[in-house]
Amino acid sequence: MRNMLKCLYSRIPQKIKNSISHSAMLFVFCTLITIIAFQPMARMAYARDSRPETSGGSLIDIIVMLISELSVEFSEPQSQPQFVFPPNFQYNSEEKTFRIPKSNGFTMDLSGAVHMDLYHQRQYTITLPMNDPWHLGYGEFAVIDDYFQTVYISPNIADGSVSLTFRLQQLKLFDLSEDEGYYIIRAIYPRERYQFIVVIDPGHGGNQPGAIHGGIRESDLNLAVTRQLLALIEQNEHMRAYTTRNSDASVDLWARPRLGNEVGDIFISIHHNANTNRNVYGTESFYFLYIPDDDYDYNGYADYYGHNDINHGTVDDIADNAYALSSRGLAEIMQRQLINRIGFRDRGIHNRRFVVLRYSQIPATLVELGFMSNQQELDIMRTEAFQRQAAQAIYNGLLEVFAHYPPPR
Ligand SMILES: [Zn+2]
Repeated sequence: MRNMLKCLYSRIPQKIKNSISHSAMLFVFCTLITIIAFQPMARMAYARDSRPETSGGSLIDIIVMLISELSVEFSEPQSQPQFVFPPNFQYNSEEKTFRIPKSNGFTMDLSGAVHMDLYHQRQYTITLPMNDPWHLGYGEFAVIDDYFQTVYISPNIADGSVSLTFRLQQLKLFDLSEDEGYYIIRAIYPRERYQFIVVIDPGHGGNQPGAIHGGIRESDLNLAVTRQLLALIEQNEHMRAYTTRNSDASVDLWARPRLGNEVGDIFISIHHNANTNRNVYGTESFYFLYIPDDDYDYNGYADYYGHNDINHGTVDDIADNAYALSSRGLAEIMQRQLINRIGFRDRGIHNRRFVVLRYSQIPATLVELGFMSNQQELDIMRTEAFQRQAAQAIYNGLLEVFAHYPPPR
């Protein structure tokens, strides 16, 4: 409805807006809005009233009262409709908190809340165990600040609960708490909750399968190892993993390092190799080395602070810093752990300008577990036993990084 209002308003030429009187304009608008608002809307409750409000000068507010106590404000000169939160659901943009007053004896048990972090869609849903599904109203509200786009309030008639779906500008987690007067929903940075966050990037996916050998797609192998790795990380309460994909989805190449930069402490891209020479085999890992005075956009050995300047000295100096881990150091650790565990030939670590490494502002490595073009390695790598071992090797590498280079918080 918000979009419809916006679109209707913007269709009126400015000349007409200027020439007709306020009262005529208000009449037209109220009529339009009343017609729209009383229609059954897929995502909005019906309106029960609409009224104009003049606040002096050229400012015109038109307020639509909806049955579920929600309201929408539509004001000139911004001509941006603003949703006004219902009285039972207050947003404080300074504190990034939503508050539900405990007034009129309203209570709920927050321990029964169910969280769903759909970060691939940049959405987070919290289902609150309420006995009154209409308590917060119904509909989608624009928040539009640096954290949020909208919050969608959706009553679940069957069990009386209410689902709040936050559409996020930045990936966030949510803390629930209460004080004497309110239930409080607070958006927090993932780094506020977890001591160590790894962004795992299963290479390729969707319409980009990567290498294909013996009918096996690299993108599927990359995902299989990633899922084994996720299962290990989920058991560690201090660690959190985000993946650039957790299905056979196409993911923009640049979006991968961007996710790492947004939430991660380190970035690991998982690949399987291929070569026209079928006799080539073994494991290798890559990093990107920033070269001063070169024209790269980002460095490849940024430390945990995401520093992007070159005044840290050499890469080796960085590696000596107790708080910093270089991308090369990360590649070294992962390569060693992989060789120890899966026992393929050690092809070493190499400096390469891969996009996922170049655009990472956190320590980043890309591992090539083995060669799909080599029949012997392919036969091993397609087994679940191998995928579990490779995941365990990378997980051991994560534990090593976490122990020696704990991210400063
Ligand atoms: Zn690949």
